[in-house]
Amino acid sequence: MTDASDIPIRVRPEIAALPPYKQGRQAGGDAFKLSSNENPFDPLPGVVEAIRSATAVNRYPDASAARLRERLAERFGVASDEVHIGAGSVSILAQLILATSGPGDEVIYAWRSFEAYPWLAVVAGATAVEVPLAEGARHDLPAMVAAITERTRSIIVCSPNNPTGPIVTQAEFDAFIAQVPSDVLVILDEAYAEFVTDPDAVDGLLVLGNATYPNVVVLRTFSKAFGLAGLRVGYAVGHKRILDAARSTSIPLSVTAQAEVAALASLDAEEELLDRVRAIAERRDQLVAALRDAGWRVPDAQGNFVWLPTGDETLTAAQAFDEAGIIVRPFAGDGIRISVGEAESVEKVLRIAASLVSHLP
Ligand code: PMP
Repeated sequence: MTDASDIPIRVRPEIAALPPYKQGRQAGGDAFKLSSNENPFDPLPGVVEAIRSATAVNRYPDASAARLRERLAERFGVASDEVHIGAGSVSILAQLILATSGPGDEVIYAWRSFEAYPWLAVVAGATAVEVPLAEGARHDLPAMVAAITERTRSIIVCSPNNPTGPIVTQAEFDAFIAQVPSDVLVILDEAYAEFVTDPDAVDGLLVLGNATYPNVVVLRTFSKAFGLAGLRVGYAVGHKRILDAARSTSIPLSVTAQAEVAALASLDAEEELLDRVRAIAERRDQLVAALRDAGWRVPDAQGNFVWLPTGDETLTAAQAFDEAGIIVRPFAGDGIRISVGEAESVEKVLRIAASLVSHLP
């Protein structure tokens, strides 16, 4: 092919400078893949059966995933047009940013947080406004309020925060939302909500029940607690007008029939799946306690992952995990995120982390 530099297509400069999404290394051999916050349990037989039954692959799926929308609407006591389904909650995040924010507009989020936030702001042509996390790797909501300008179109709040782990409390969120102008969209990203055990954590669905704040949209996913990461299905709950705007920017028909039926079958098996979630949350709490005993300053962990603040030693420490058969997610110069996976992998993580602690800041 022609040398790429000769091609006169005018790619937007900010896109030309944007590296594509990079996935953590895939597991090979007997390595444990703890780099993507996946659910370590195999899919339930009933869920696999539901996927197998969706055989009409020559037909397009139902564009609005109406059955799943209605099921979730019933579950949350909202109207079905107050629920929106996407090919993963990250798709809905993209739709909401595109719908609200263009060139010159500002998107505020905490940093460090989910890597898709800066990426989606750039794709929309908007300006990313990053507000550093406070002590304990927690959201600094007062600083996020202080960052609001007349160009702010959306604010993303991630609870529990990926990759550091802490939640935002309900009291913190209530104080925050009362100060956000009503024309600024607040996206409450609760991808890990089901793993939360802290009773003080914000609950997006309670917030939505409060009619005072129709500018809040809650994002949840079937990827984590429900173990459907490979099928790509997530949802938003919020005001119809906001979700209609997301629907208008969505790529049509991206939620497959298989994803929809698998999500429905997962809701049928919710109790069993939530038992697994409880087991992961218990493993997480044991891991955090043991890491702290070993001398690590691990922030509160309320998702299905823990954060090791490895600072400048991050890449070396990640390499040590890798060599021992544990694939983690390093964030150079900052820390390492480790998903809570199989029981054996948790024991191994602890052994490696304990051996590393003396070399670290
Ligand atoms: N939000 C957060 C905070 C996440 O960590 C993730 C996945 N890593 C997502 C959203 C997106 O998940 P999905 O698209 O699989 O629903």
